[in-house]
Amino acid sequence: MVASRYTPAEEQKTIWVYLEQENGVLENVSLEILTKGRELADKMEWQLTGLLLGHDMGDISSSAFAYGADVIVFADHPLLENFTIEAYSDVIEKAILERKPSVFLLGATPNGRDLAGRLAVRFRTGLNADCTELRMEKKTGVLVCEVSGFGGGILALIEMPSHRPQMATVRPGVFEPKPRNHNLTGELVELNVNLNPDSIYTRVIERMVGEQVDLARVPVIVAGGRGIDGEFESLRKLAKLLGGAIGATRPPVDDGYIPREYQIGQTGVVCSPEVALCCGISGAFHFIVGIEKSKTVISINIDPDAPIFEFSDYCIVSDVNEMIPRLINALEDIQETTHEKVT
Ligand SMILES: Cc1cc2nc3c(=O)[nH]c(=O)nc-3n(C[C@H](O)[C@H](O)[C@H](O)COP(=O)(O)OP(=O)(O)OC[C@H]3O[C@@H](n4cnc5c(N)ncnc54)[C@H](O)[C@@H]3O)c2cc1C
Repeated sequence: MVASRYTPAEEQKTIWVYLEQENGVLENVSLEILTKGRELADKMEWQLTGLLLGHDMGDISSSAFAYGADVIVFADHPLLENFTIEAYSDVIEKAILERKPSVFLLGATPNGRDLAGRLAVRFRTGLNADCTELRMEKKTGVLVCEVSGFGGGILALIEMPSHRPQMATVRPGVFEPKPRNHNLTGELVELNVNLNPDSIYTRVIERMVGEQVDLARVPVIVAGGRGIDGEFESLRKLAKLLGGAIGATRPPVDDGYIPREYQIGQTGVVCSPEVALCCGISGAFHFIVGIEKSKTVISINIDPDAPIFEFSDYCIVSDVNEMIPRLINALEDIQETTHEKVT
């Protein structure tokens, strides 16, 4: 077995969380992992450290302290203004080798995944990707990660007793972010950054921000599957009337009807809305894991035996092509009546 670059005997009893930020605002997934990290650190009576990289980030550390970090280790440098895998992985590698945390957690975002894979190889340690639960063994200090495998057919518990840091990624929406106290503060530790611009091969030429919806946060999701036959316009109208957003299963995404950011499920977003309205969706396990935390699930399917009905609070056996226009008309009527009463 290949040894990692530091051993459990050399580790510091700390849990590190990578704090991903964009324009001085922390990504929600970092707050979610900080909340979980706090719970684990309390159990172990260890320190929780947030690792923050960027440039001119403003008062971003206060939200990390509010969500439970005891310490923030940060690097502020013009070459860290935009995420580049070369600069970020070099700075983090050095910080981790100097301080040797026992655990290092990251969000399973595109940048988080990129970093996690590269760093795990550099440390010669393991990486538990897309964990659905994390816990620490009090006696041994081993992190136990729950990961679903073989197409969701099994839940595996994975641990790495002899490699450090114990690394894991968690997708957005898996843990609930819980602020503790907005007046909390902690220790700020600045890293010495020594970056050579010639070793950074990525250049940001233009930033294009797409139409972004944070499906992990919206209160109502109207999700469309293969059964809606690419008809997302009416779903969008319905979602707007309900004050929500649209989502999708994988087939319409693969068929190019809707961008990948809208995909819900095991390889998409995990959501926890008040209401999920599932239209023309069969209910495959890979999709269900993305909506099972919804408070209420309503499904419309033409097939009375569709598996989605087993996971639904309300089951509508109907053709979406008939039901969706009827729902839109009914909601528009309600809106008009309310408007008339007000005016
Ligand atoms: C490793 C792996 C990861 C995956 N990750 C994901 C993921 O993250 N998210 C995801 O969604 N999938 C994922 N999948 C795919 C998943 O297994 C299913 O194939 C997919 O969820 C099925 O999508 P669907 O329900 O839209 O389509 P289908 O299973 O084809 O179901 C279509 C449904 O529409 C109904 N229908 C048809 N016409 C009408 C109509 N006119 N009115 C009403 N109902 C109608 C049918 O009765 C049927 O139930 C993954 C697969 C693998 C192997």
